[in-house]
Amino acid sequence: MSFVVPGEVLATEEEAIPIRGAYIDGKGYIRSTIIGLATLDRYKKNIDVKPLVKRELTLKPNSIVEGLVTSASDEVAIVKIYSTQDQNTRVEAVGLLHISQITSEYITSLLDYVRPGDIVKARVLNSTPPYLLSIKEPSTGVLTAQCSNCGGTLYLHQAGYLVCKSCGRQEKRKLAVGYLYVLR
Ligand SMILES: [Zn+2]
Repeated sequence: MSFVVPGEVLATEEEAIPIRGAYIDGKGYIRSTIIGLATLDRYKKNIDVKPLVKRELTLKPNSIVEGLVTSASDEVAIVKIYSTQDQNTRVEAVGLLHISQITSEYITSLLDYVRPGDIVKARVLNSTPPYLLSIKEPSTGVLTAQCSNCGGTLYLHQAGYLVCKSCGRQEKRKLAVGYLYVLR
């Protein structure tokens, strides 16, 4: 069993059929629709995501959280927060990331820096939901990202941009130090 968040790739459609808490995304990937525990039964060829019981937990201002970007516009991104580093615990909260909290430079669209499907590490700015987030610091930003073209994992090239191994597309993000996938 593994802990999964909405949008996370669990398997390919050749490997399994989703029974609960998952869907096939049209590109051949089975993705979770919920925060839960995923079990892939390779013998029966099915995948089940058991929902986790919701936990109320108040986030403290200045804490560092991790979450999945579920939607984004030019101005604002919605982040499903699933863990907080300070308390080393799982949470379920909604965060808002405004264009003014991406970088200290002037930018015209948030979508050039953060996109739906990205996992971000962010700092919490306030003490009540919805939590306002910032990714201005170098340690915060995008931790993993998917190709906007084919849904594949984007790898960090040493030149600083992200590249998709499957289709070759190059993309840009506001990366966190410690972006997970590095091209070798
Ligand atoms: Zn691609």
